[in-house]
Amino acid sequence: MEKRKNSQAHKYGPGSFDLERKTFSWSAYNVWNSYGPVEFAKKYIYGGADYMNPRMMTGRIVADMLESDREQIDPTLEHLRTFLPHYEHQEYEIEAKFGELTLVMHLDGFDEPKICVCQPTRATLGCAFHTSPAPYGKIGEYKTGVKWNEKMVAKHEQLDWYALGVHLKFDVDPEKVPIVLTWMPTIWGMNDAMPRPTGEIVNFDTTRTLMDCIGIGKKITKAWGEIEKYVREERNAIGL
Ligand SMILES: [Zn+2]
Repeated sequence: MEKRKNSQAHKYGPGSFDLERKTFSWSAYNVWNSYGPVEFAKKYIYGGADYMNPRMMTGRIVADMLESDREQIDPTLEHLRTFLPHYEHQEYEIEAKFGELTLVMHLDGFDEPKICVCQPTRATLGCAFHTSPAPYGKIGEYKTGVKWNEKMVAKHEQLDWYALGVHLKFDVDPEKVPIVLTWMPTIWGMNDAMPRPTGEIVNFDTTRTLMDCIGIGKKITKAWGEIEKYVREERNAIGL
């Protein structure tokens, strides 16, 4: 299987974690909080090979299609490529200092916040800031598989991470940054090796507040403290 073209180019892989450099990714945070220490150790201490289940493979196929943005032979994929929301960056790495930590995250889609260049005279209102539909930037996340709804989107911590990352990097009010979670439902037929997209596209619009960013910031600090303690104990136990 062809390696994802950008996987080497990413300074930090999507699953990045580095205890000494205090590098912390959304993925590492999510594994710790959602799957617990054993799974975390497998992936980030013992460096186990990345296992991909069939659902993840479906996600990867769609992600590769979006990144390459090449015409697809499969009509469903071509439909998705044509009608999914597109962004200035079809992938965007954020690396932001947060206290002593460096938060790293990989956004599927990102429009950068625009800077107004027609101040102070306002002689023209033709600058990028004044003409862009998303002057404060826009965050896009694509999801395949599991069913999504408004409530899940509102509570999905990945988006809090991204809102915080954009806020730290660009210093914009998070509430002004629209977030779109695009859900591509899948079906898994009896003869299929993996689920495949139905071609349906559901866009959920959401935002995060500064309070949400502060909230996720506290959780990040807490999770990092737990991980730091756990990893040191684990390393001592195995004599690393
Ligand atoms: Zn302007």
